[in-house]
Amino acid sequence: MNFNPDSTGNHKRQTKIIATLGPATDDPAVLERVIAAGASVFRLNMSHGKGEDQLERARLVRKVSSRMDREVALLADLQGPKIRVERFTDGQVDLAAGDEFILDAEDDTTPGTKERVGVSYKGLPRDVHPGDVLLLDDGLISMVVERVDGGKVHCTVELGGILRDRKGLNLKGGGLSISGLADHDLSHIELAARMGVDYLAVSFVSDERDINRARKLMRKAGSEAALVAKIERMEAIENLEEICDAADVIMVARGDLGVEIGDEELPGLQKRIIRTALKHNRIVTTATQMMQSMVENPVPTRAEILDVANAVIDGSDAVMLSAETAVGKHPVRVIESVHRICVGAERHFEQEGVVTHLNVRFQRIDQAIAMAAMFMATNVSVQAIIALTESGSTAQWLSRVQSAVPIYAFSRNEASRRRMTLFRDVYPVKLETDSEDEELVVQSALQKLWRTGALVSGDRVIVTMGDRMGRSGGTNTLRYIKLDADGRSHYAV
Ligand code: PGA
Ligand code: MN
Repeated sequence: MNFNPDSTGNHKRQTKIIATLGPATDDPAVLERVIAAGASVFRLNMSHGKGEDQLERARLVRKVSSRMDREVALLADLQGPKIRVERFTDGQVDLAAGDEFILDAEDDTTPGTKERVGVSYKGLPRDVHPGDVLLLDDGLISMVVERVDGGKVHCTVELGGILRDRKGLNLKGGGLSISGLADHDLSHIELAARMGVDYLAVSFVSDERDINRARKLMRKAGSEAALVAKIERMEAIENLEEICDAADVIMVARGDLGVEIGDEELPGLQKRIIRTALKHNRIVTTATQMMQSMVENPVPTRAEILDVANAVIDGSDAVMLSAETAVGKHPVRVIESVHRICVGAERHFEQEGVVTHLNVRFQRIDQAIAMAAMFMATNVSVQAIIALTESGSTAQWLSRVQSAVPIYAFSRNEASRRRMTLFRDVYPVKLETDSEDEELVVQSALQKLWRTGALVSGDRVIVTMGDRMGRSGGTNTLRYIKLDADGRSHYAV
């Protein structure tokens, strides 16, 4: 069965795990164990590797997961307009505090030295001012702008270190303006569509137009993938509400975000971004350096344990692993560790039992039904919610309210089932029957859960469904069912 992603015990894990693919997961046997350990969304990082490598990885995920009868999603992550230094004569230079150094937007072809390096972003001299702090390689190196001379930005190194070819460049406080999709992203969008990805992540989003444009290009390329907005620059914080409206998923991309806004702002902003996304009925994920030490070590640090748990308690649908699974030494162990930490954190969170959205006027009937279901689920004893859903939208509404009750989302639509592998507390299940008869459909779902032991006789279940099956957004019915001795419904409760 594929609806319980948990292979490690009786505890269902509500929070989903995104694993970045890379050399460490290229061995099919390792990938199989990563899936078995509970990763349900696989990220293809378009910043690294050749297009063919990523295409091959996408194929491998589909092959291995279907052999295992597991529902998993693919997420293509565009590189975006990340500003980088160009190459050096010797691949790197060693910069010391107090050194003078020039970022040269006039000449990005001459290889760099200890005195200067090219930057292909022509707008750099316009965007920076004396006193600005520039952060290189995710903040490992910093320099202060002294003056701008034509296309050359003269700096003094503040924090020294080895600066290597093609490392990233950020402005502390944000404001390096460069439009949302770079040329390489356009070809990567076509590649992602060919791979049949379920999610497309847009990097360095500034405002909702970046998402709308990516969505249009993706549709033109023939893909129905959902859109992920990576929140990793200052402008995105200013336009957060509009971005939440435009995107399907919000990612707290803490790597670049932390560099732009400063360490001290990051914890508060993570909470604010998650709250805002949930308020907009969006899926929200937390990413970067969650288990960083496990790239090398077989166990996480206490700080990492707390970080993953706090992301769960903040309300993330999913936590993401980057280098930990892509190039790390322990791609399977890290998933097992995250699994345990999430389950523990969720147990703590259950007690809080918050129900939101109860004081709003609903625009949509499926939303109202979902909220009514969650109100019931938190106030009468039920062991499960079954959502009969075409598009997955009812399951999404249901999962916006924290509860301890698992949501089994039955759908005939494979794309919907894959998408739902990212939703907190939602377990997508294939609806086997194509009957239009409501009664038969409900019995089929109950039987499937009963046969696998997910439900037992006497359990009480809430069912949400539409009176015409197979229509997206058509949920208008709520039922309360008790299972009889044969696992069939028994309405007299
Ligand atoms: P990246 O995005 O890993 O593609 O840089 C995530 C982040 O910046 O946190
Ligand atoms: Mn980033």
